[in-house]
Parts: sequence; C-alpha cells; structure tokens
Amino acid sequence: MTETVDLLFFGAHADDVELCAGGTIARSVTDGLRVGIIDLTRGEMGTRGTPAIRKREAAAGARALGVHLREELDFGDGGLRTGREEELQVIDVVRRLQPTLVFAPYPDDRHPDHARAGRLVTEASFYAGLRALKTALPAHRPQTVIYYLQNYMFGPSFVVDVTRSWKTKMRAVGAFKSQFFKPKSKEPETFISKRGFLDMIEARGRHFGQLIGVEFGEAFVTKQPPRVNDVIGAYGGREV
Ligand SMILES: [Zn+2]
Repeated sequence: MTETVDLLFFGAHADDVELCAGGTIARSVTDGLRVGIIDLTRGEMGTRGTPAIRKREAAAGARALGVHLREELDFGDGGLRTGREEELQVIDVVRRLQPTLVFAPYPDDRHPDHARAGRLVTEASFYAGLRALKTALPAHRPQTVIYYLQNYMFGPSFVVDVTRSWKTKMRAVGAFKSQFFKPKSKEPETFISKRGFLDMIEARGRHFGQLIGVEFGEAFVTKQPPRVNDVIGAYGGREV
C-alpha cells in the first residue's frame, strides 16, 4: 500500500525542520494530520557528529514529533546539488507521498544549502504535477509550497500558534545532542553549539507568538497568501 502524507517538510540538514517548524509539525500530528520529513543531505560536513550519529538523532527527533515517516536523500552536505537528477528524485518523492502542502526552506538564506534546497523543492513540486513528465509514478501537484525561516528573516505571511506543542518541539530539537550546547563537549564550538543558540530559538518563538497574541509561534512565508474565511477569528484574543 502506498503511504501518503498531508504535509511534507523538506530540510537541507536533519534538525533544520525541528528548529524552524517543529512546533507546527507536532501540533499537526496531534490534530490528526499525516506528516513526513525529507532530509536532503546526510550531514557529512557537520563540524560535530558524524552521518551515523545524525541519522540516529534524526530518528529520535522524528519519534519525538510523532511524524509518520522520515527519509534521507544524499544530495551533498555543504554544496547541495540541484541538477536534473536531484530534481527527479524530489519529483518522485512528491509523487509517491502525494502531500497536500509542501514545506521548504526560504530560497534565500545565509547557508547556501538552505537556499538551494528551497529553490529545488519549489521547482520540483511544480514539475511533479506535469502529466507529460513521465517517471515511474503518476503526476501529483501540491496546493502550494510554504517556506519556513532559518537565518535570514522575512515578514511572515502567517504565524502558526505552537504554544501547546512548544515543549515537544524542544524535545525533538534536543534529540540532536551532537549539535547543540553541551558544557563538557570536546568538539569544536559552532554557531549552533553556543549556549545562546537555543535561547535564540526560544526568543524567536516568543517573538512570533507575540505577533499573534499567543505565547509561542512559528512564522511562514508564502508567495500566494492564505485564504481567510474568519477574519474575526484570525485576530481572536487580540486588541489594538
Ligand atoms: Zn541547515
């Protein structure tokens, strides 16, 4: 039987989606949606840890979030390839899993792997719907591609209330033990292993939450604005 998902989250590196969209993933699972994660690289260029460690951590992150599947592709960490071969692999992932919505990194970011992943997934999601493009699987086109924000910030198109799922998100982030702050670690310090990094993630969650009048939020950008049927509800609990 083909396993399909409602929401499909692509990340350049395992831990990207946990950091930027983990709360949205966890609450979507709780809300009864089927969710999948695709990591486009194996993390072989990481300053800390190894691909084998990252794979174990990614599995633990997936368990914490409760996602239905997590798969890994091998497009090359630190130089993510976006040629036709990689595009066809993403097209077939989209065709096989038939997501209603695809999530990807914003296609402009400090880390070129993130930006490349964002462009690759956007283009492959469109091409996946072309019937005349023959692969082993029938055409499928998601409703849209939604971008999560990584290093560079852009004005959000919408913010998801992740107050109830925040602890689950941070548990999933904590599964990547090799990457983040450990007081006695002998591995070299990196941008994300500094003590302040997880504080920044929390501060960002609180900032986005404050924008919509809740404790924690995750912000997303779309090229097509979301349709709102309940304008009053969309601003519920707020005041000018
Ligand atoms: Zn990354």
